[in-house]
Amino acid sequence: MEHIYQSYTANASSKLNIAEYFNQFERANKQLYTKIPMNKAQLTDLYDSVSINKLDVDEEPAVTGHRRMSPKHEAKKIVNDTDLQTLKLLKEKYMEYLPKIFRPSLKYQSELIVRYNEPIMSGPGAVPGKNMIIFIRVYNPFDYHKKEYPIRRQRISLMHLIGVLDCQTLADLRDKIHCISDLSLSRESSDNPQEYSEVSNRDLYKSSFFYIENTFYNDTRDPTNHDNSLPIREWAEKRNLGPFNIAKMEDTTLGSLVVKFGYPWVYQHQGNCEHLIVFSDARFVARDDDLAIANYPRIYRAKPSKQPSCMICERIVQWVTFDSDRVPHDSFFFCDKCFLSFNYKDNKKIGNFKAYRWPYDPELMKMINNFKSE
Ligand SMILES: [Zn+2]
Ligand SMILES: [Zn+2]
Repeated sequence: MEHIYQSYTANASSKLNIAEYFNQFERANKQLYTKIPMNKAQLTDLYDSVSINKLDVDEEPAVTGHRRMSPKHEAKKIVNDTDLQTLKLLKEKYMEYLPKIFRPSLKYQSELIVRYNEPIMSGPGAVPGKNMIIFIRVYNPFDYHKKEYPIRRQRISLMHLIGVLDCQTLADLRDKIHCISDLSLSRESSDNPQEYSEVSNRDLYKSSFFYIENTFYNDTRDPTNHDNSLPIREWAEKRNLGPFNIAKMEDTTLGSLVVKFGYPWVYQHQGNCEHLIVFSDARFVARDDDLAIANYPRIYRAKPSKQPSCMICERIVQWVTFDSDRVPHDSFFFCDKCFLSFNYKDNKKIGNFKAYRWPYDPELMKMINNFKSE
């Protein structure tokens, strides 16, 4: 397939066996240490000789630790009793910005950093300098058939940046991808909302695959799962594309993969929900990482999507109703509490309406803190 998508290889690495690459790196490091026999005093001298302070020149002003501050801070720094028009106008300019939300200009500013306040501290642990964290960018699906948007406006956007340990499997990665089509429920549930309040498409339609380096990695954990790669492989065979391999995602560890970093691969679930995924980085686990394996895979960054609010109380939406004869809008959004109290009495439906579960991920919502500048 790579001959078809050649243009993507320009920004990608060469093929790497992740575990082997880091083993080689570790061996090279060991050789480096053994080839430079130095005592502590020599090492201190070496450290001092390459200190960043050596870059100072005489009479150079001290480093102030300057960083871009918010307009409020910048305005405060300008004295009030000045006659200088430049300073007065600058202060006015900063004051104009005050009502607006200030965000520092960062490359990934639209991606929220996911913070984990209570990491798991028990259970088997990853070994610093031995285990690796592999970072995978999972993108939102996009509709390339949409004719109303010119191609140049079809920008793919990040959904999650996920860190997975080398000893974990593609199935672990799959379970960490929170896609709206997994979380929704395409079933009319107005007659028995309680029965479906905890069920989503993820529980009903579990088949999925990753396509990486000519291999389809299928999720076969549930015996009722389908091989969704089969029609694609049959289609490809008729066009002399391939050959393709198949493997089980639950048996494939991330460390065992041979991949090109920076090259787009595919994750497909719910039959037709396709995400591009890119292996973006990998490094050894460090001592200041959360070491318990149960903390991984973990979402490091996420890009939030706009969510409607409950049209009664403005809480997070969990239900949407259609064709209701008791509300003024055809699609009416409810939180769980308002949905049940407005549409049911003694657990009996009031009036006519159709109800569908709105995809809602309490786990992810809890993890994402709003990124605010100082
Ligand atoms: Zn999806
Ligand atoms: Zn509500």
